[in-house]
Amino acid sequence: MVMPSDPDPWLGQTLEGRYRLLRRLGAGGMGVVYEAAHLALGEVELGDRLAVKVLRSTALSVPGALERLEREAQAASAIGDPHIVDVRDFGHLQGGQAYVVMELLEGRALWDELREGAFPWERAARLARHVAHGLARAHDAGIVHRDLKPENVALVERKGERDYPKILDFGIAKLRGAAAKLTRAGEVIGTPQYMSPEQCLGLAIDPRADVYALGVLLYEMLTGDVPFDGDDLRAICLSHIQGEVPPLSALGVEVPAALDA
Ligand code: ADP
Ligand code: MG
Repeated sequence: MVMPSDPDPWLGQTLEGRYRLLRRLGAGGMGVVYEAAHLALGEVELGDRLAVKVLRSTALSVPGALERLEREAQAASAIGDPHIVDVRDFGHLQGGQAYVVMELLEGRALWDELREGAFPWERAARLARHVAHGLARAHDAGIVHRDLKPENVALVERKGERDYPKILDFGIAKLRGAAAKLTRAGEVIGTPQYMSPEQCLGLAIDPRADVYALGVLLYEMLTGDVPFDGDDLRAICLSHIQGEVPPLSALGVEVPAALDA
């Protein structure tokens, strides 16, 4: 964790004369995200503020990884689904670093909300339906997210509707997978709590992996906890492969029978 007092070499910088990084919004495993102004010649600020994610250079050490990210993130964004974050631009910096420019989302991460506990089932079901809609559009376009989890879902206000989910990070997971292959052999890659059995086994992945992760997400929204957790990442994976998911009724969570099923 970077402390606020640590100097941030990117803060205040203008990337390629166009994007001035104004404020740090957050950081994830793949990069650091800033609020940015879009500048024209003469430093005039154009349009709305944006979000810029500066990718960690370790994420880019695999040849072709960045091109793949650009392709997938742009393809997902091009679907134009309101549940998928809008990607506006990509850039390359000296020293091999790269950045992604996105629409600036004002809201909270689903992850922050879940730390306060389970949601009423109506809210959980509504959010899951929204996310499913966005995923379906991506799947129709041949794109699989691969890393759906509460950190990658933002809750924003849209046309007066509060609590509107937006999916972040299309294309990013593949980058992480590519980079992680360079780490110690046998290390579990990704976020095991949300990983489908086939992901845990390192098999080929298709849209069903996202549907599985959405199921875990829905379960977590309903109960406040993921079905399988713990410090032992391998044990979590083993549970996904052969464990029994505790039924909601066994946890004392009251939902309509259809939802429990
Ligand atoms: P990573 O790819 O490294 O996991 P994330 O995409 O999860 O990074 O971003 C890290 C954090 O930055 C998020 O939790 C969120 O708080 C913030 N963030 C990411 N994208 C945006 C955006 N478009 N607008 C506003 N904040 C964002
Ligand atoms: Mg993320």
